[in-house]
Amino acid sequence: MIIYGTNGAHVRTTPLPADAACPGCATSGTMQLSVFSRYALIYWIPLFPYSKPAVLQCGHCQQAWEEKNVPSELREPARALKKGTRAPLWHWSGLGVLAALIGWGAIASSQDARANAAYLDAPHVGDIYTVREKDGERNYSLLKVVSVKGPTVDVVPNEFQINNNHPIDELNAPAKYSKESFALSKFELQIMKNKGQLTDVDRLEE
Ligand SMILES: [Zn+2]
Repeated sequence: MIIYGTNGAHVRTTPLPADAACPGCATSGTMQLSVFSRYALIYWIPLFPYSKPAVLQCGHCQQAWEEKNVPSELREPARALKKGTRAPLWHWSGLGVLAALIGWGAIASSQDARANAAYLDAPHVGDIYTVREKDGERNYSLLKVVSVKGPTVDVVPNEFQINNNHPIDELNAPAKYSKESFALSKFELQIMKNKGQLTDVDRLEE
């Protein structure tokens, strides 16, 4: 269950220009505007601010006006003060974390792609290829490199398929591989990768 909601916080209270007079008691220089920020929450983490309610109050007679009721002669200075008041950055922290995670994911996946290309280019005994059949639900399996001869590798296929694009955790046990190996050239491996049939390369032992 995702827990979400909204909350509000006082941002700042600023005096209106000294010539602004209170519409209630006519005192000048006592008007002040309080600006609040309302923000969305997810799991108690502020996600983003979505509105900035403001309240105008007279420090002398204590009368207060919500934004929509602010008398017309004070509307413009109140609006200017509100415009100059920003929601604090921490009201954005959820979106900030999300953006950082997405950026980190993009970096990690491009590093993984570079490592895969390097491994395919210079195969080692023990490299494990994740391969994917075109159809069917349980369509991921493994090929394990058992020898490298120049531009060709010998691989043994795993005898199992699962419906998980990271089958290595479940399938990489010696007993689960066939005893019969077959040869693949680096060129063929490259074609399999380009076609999306070879989706990952893992090198467990260095
Ligand atoms: Zn007043």
